[in-house]
Amino acid sequence: MHGMELTFDLVNDAATRTLGARIAALLRVGDVIALHGDLGAGKTTLTRGLVQALCGADEEVPSPTYTLVQSYDAPQFPIWHFDLYRMNTPDEVMELGWDETQGGVALIEWPERAGRYLPTARLDLTLEMVGEQRRARLEPVGEDWQKRLDGFRF
Ligand code: ADP
Ligand code: MG
Repeated sequence: MHGMELTFDLVNDAATRTLGARIAALLRVGDVIALHGDLGAGKTTLTRGLVQALCGADEEVPSPTYTLVQSYDAPQFPIWHFDLYRMNTPDEVMELGWDETQGGVALIEWPERAGRYLPTARLDLTLEMVGEQRRARLEPVGEDWQKRLDGFRF
């Protein structure tokens, strides 16, 4: 099961949020999702759909552009949403409560900025702009995520 990759076309903002909601249903404590993609690719939008699926549609999910992290108390587990774009050095993740996230789920925009702190067991999710629309690519790293995504349809 090496090199498994799933791609989905996302025709609008709502489709991006729906994919987030579908992924939400697969999550467990300790999960890490690395969200790759340029500015405006839809990383925060997907996170919004995921968080709202677990916390309720009324939950506001702002971009943590300046705070770098935003946390949510979902009934099942806490969720941390990071945006590391403005971080200067990987060591700064420790000041953001990085270690606590093992007790919940972490979604990370600009994950490469975490350097060696980024766990190797994770789901890599890349969003690309395709004209006005978006395309999502899911690449499970490690056997656990590969099994969970086996048969995933969208
Ligand atoms: P990022 O967090 O990657 O910088 P955002 O989630 O803030 O990006 O999204 C940027 C813009 O893209 C938003 O205006 C959002 O509504 C829009 N968007 C998200 N998904 C889609 C899609 N599938 N098709 C068209 N626009 C989308
Ligand atoms: Mg964002």
